[in-house]
Amino acid sequence: MKSCHSWAILLAAGQGSRLAACTKGLPKQFFKIDHKPLYWYSLYTLSKVARLRGVVVVFPADCMEEKEQLQQLMFSHNVNLPVITCIGGARRQDSVRNALEHIPATADTVLIHDAARPFATAELWNRILDALCVCCNPPSGVIPALSVVDTIKEVDEHNRVCATLDRTVLKAVQTPQGFALATLRKAHAQAVEHEWDVTDDASLLERCGHSVLVVDGEGANTKLTRAEDMTLLQSLHSAPSAYPVTGYGYDVHRFAGHTTLPKAQPERPLRLGGVDIPNSPFVLAHSDGDVLLHALTDAVLGCLGEGDIGSLFPDTDSSLDNMDSAVFLEHALTMARTAGLMVHHVDLTVITQTPKVAPHRAAIRKNIARLLGLDIGSVNIKATTEEGLGFTGKKEGIKAVALVNALKPVYKDTF
Ligand code: MG
Repeated sequence: MKSCHSWAILLAAGQGSRLAACTKGLPKQFFKIDHKPLYWYSLYTLSKVARLRGVVVVFPADCMEEKEQLQQLMFSHNVNLPVITCIGGARRQDSVRNALEHIPATADTVLIHDAARPFATAELWNRILDALCVCCNPPSGVIPALSVVDTIKEVDEHNRVCATLDRTVLKAVQTPQGFALATLRKAHAQAVEHEWDVTDDASLLERCGHSVLVVDGEGANTKLTRAEDMTLLQSLHSAPSAYPVTGYGYDVHRFAGHTTLPKAQPERPLRLGGVDIPNSPFVLAHSDGDVLLHALTDAVLGCLGEGDIGSLFPDTDSSLDNMDSAVFLEHALTMARTAGLMVHHVDLTVITQTPKVAPHRAAIRKNIARLLGLDIGSVNIKATTEEGLGFTGKKEGIKAVALVNALKPVYKDTF
C-alpha cells in the first residue's frame, strides 16, 4: 500500500424529484432524519475515514441556510475534516466537474459518493482506498459492486421480454467510487470536448479506455430513490433501540483497630451490601464504609460514562461522614434512570480474609436486589480470600469488585 493524498466529493446537488411527495418538495439530500439532513449521514461517516484529507460537498445553488447548518453540525459533532462547499451543475457529471476544480493541487486520488446512499460504512470507504492506493500498477478507478441476485430481463419499448441476461457477469454498482485524480480530470475534459453524457464517473473512465477495478460493495448501501425507502429510514430512526454496556467497579477499605479509629467515626459493624456484619473488623471510611456498595456504585457510573464515586461524593465533604452508602447507589441509579440506562444484571465479589461472607450472602443478595429493583436471579454475590496473600491476606483490609450489565439507549448523534 502506498500513501495517497485523498479527498472526497459528496454529491448533494440533485433535485430528487421522484421523492417530492414524500419530502414535501425538498431535495432528498436535505430531508431531515432525526433533525439532520440526509447528506449529513454520509459526511459523518467519511469524517471517520482517517486517510481522507478533506471533502468537497456539492450543493444546489441558493443554499445559504444549508451551508450554515452544515457548519453547526460540524461544530456540534466535532468534525474537524476540512470541508469545502461548491455549487453543482445540471447533471451529475457537471457537479463532479465543478467539485474537481476545488480539490487542492496536492491531492492525487478522489472518492466520489452520492448523498442518497447514507448507509455506506467507513469500512467500505477504506476498502476503496486500499484497492486504489497500491504501489504496483494502481488502478485508474475502483468501484464497489454487488453480484446480481435477480434474473435480469431485457425488454423492448412495449415491455415485452427480448432476452434474459447472464447474471453471472453482471454487477450492481454503488458509490463511493475512487479514482486517480489526474486521470479523472482528463476524462471530464474529454467529456466536455465530446459532449458525452454519462451516469457515473466509472462509465466515463471506461469510455476513455481506462480499466476500472471492482471490489465488494455492501448490501445495506442502498440508494434512497423511492418513497418507501425514506419511510423505512424514518422508522429505523424512530424505533427505540439500546445497546449492551458493562460497568466495572473496584474499591478497597482499610481495616482499623479500635485504637486507630478516628474520633468522628463511631464504632459500628462492617457493612456489606447494606447488611451489617457483626463481630467483624472496623473499616476506615468517610461514609459507612460499605466497600461492596461503593464498587457497585462505581460500576453503575461506569455504564453511564460518568466518572467515579469519589468525584460525585468527595471524601473531603464532612456532611458525608457515616453516610449510608445506599444513598450513593441511589444517586447513581437516579442518574441511570435519567439517561434511560436499564441495569439488568450485576455480579459482585467480596475479597477478604475476614469476616466470612458466606453466612450473610443470602441477606446481601436480597438487599442489593431490592436496592436495584432487580429480580434476585439477576444479582450474584461471590466471596473469596486471596489465600493469605497481600493486604487482604494479612487482614489489613477488604476489597470488592462489581460488574454491572445494562442496556443504554442509542443516541441518534452516534449514527
Ligand atoms: Mg470506598
